Amino acid sequence: MTDFIFPWFKDAWTAIHKNEKKPHALIFRGKEGIGKLDFAAKFSKSYLCHKPLSNHLPCEICSSCQWFPLTHPDFNHIAPIENEDDESSKRKTVRKKNIAIDQIRELSEYLELSAHQEKGKRIILIEPADTLNQAASNALLKILEEPPENTLFILVTSQLQKLLPTIRSRCQLLELPAPSFEEARSFLMSKKITHDENLLSLAGGSPFNVIKESENQLERETVTKLLSQGHNIDITKVNYAILTHGLDWVLNLIQKWVFDLLLNFHAQQSYYFKNEEKNIQFQIKQMNLEALLSYINELNDLKKIASHPINQELQLQNIFIKYKQIFEPS
Ligand SMILES: [Zn+2]
Repeated sequence: MTDFIFPWFKDAWTAIHKNEKKPHALIFRGKEGIGKLDFAAKFSKSYLCHKPLSNHLPCEICSSCQWFPLTHPDFNHIAPIENEDDESSKRKTVRKKNIAIDQIRELSEYLELSAHQEKGKRIILIEPADTLNQAASNALLKILEEPPENTLFILVTSQLQKLLPTIRSRCQLLELPAPSFEEARSFLMSKKITHDENLLSLAGGSPFNVIKESENQLERETVTKLLSQGHNIDITKVNYAILTHGLDWVLNLIQKWVFDLLLNFHAQQSYYFKNEEKNIQFQIKQMNLEALLSYINELNDLKKIASHPINQELQLQNIFIKYKQIFEPS
């Protein structure tokens, strides 16, 4: 956690402290990789702090600040864990982690204990809240229906649509904006993270995605190279090591690529793959627009099941076969 608020969150920071109504539950929603967790942790620390500063930052001196986060008795961070019983965990590819029902049961027990401090404020941080599985969601809803006193729930997510509508309706929504490219760039520079401009575009301008993605360069290049072959893509030569980060990850990359195909078709420009623009413009000459649009729909549908324990290699093979067909004359 940093000791300052990221510049792109300053307005949200002011807004949340102007909030007169004291809700039981908040949702912090914003794009992936923009530092939402840092914001939520900073807010929690300041909320529990005994003497917050005039700009609402935590004092860093009081006992609450000293305890935060690991040994703070009134701060509970619920994050996804690996589920042993899950079929997918037996596979080599990335396992999907969920917030499970047992974690919410434990939370219930924790809430039954009285708050530790005199002021009695507690924070339950659930992050990312979109990883709550069905049973856990229902259990959380029960808690939110009769919220315990002096307890603030904070749900952090980039995928609000994955939360139960009944949970959403019980929370106050705070939108966390993404940084501008300039803000992201200077943030990465201040962290001494060298990156090329294209990676920032590919990460959709999210600085923490750049940090994460800078480690996946090899796999990213392999996927990009495959896609850039268009109709000449050789399905038999696909190296399935690209599934190291999960089918979800590969799908994301393909979705960005086809987005650029469409953007180039209509506006002769790229959004994510700026350095592949020439290549993409060459490809769209052979592209069938109708086939592309139905491929985009198929990818969206696949995305919904991409985290399920299915045969990921077979799925990916199909995705590439269909990709090839975009470039076939109809
Ligand atoms: Zn403090």
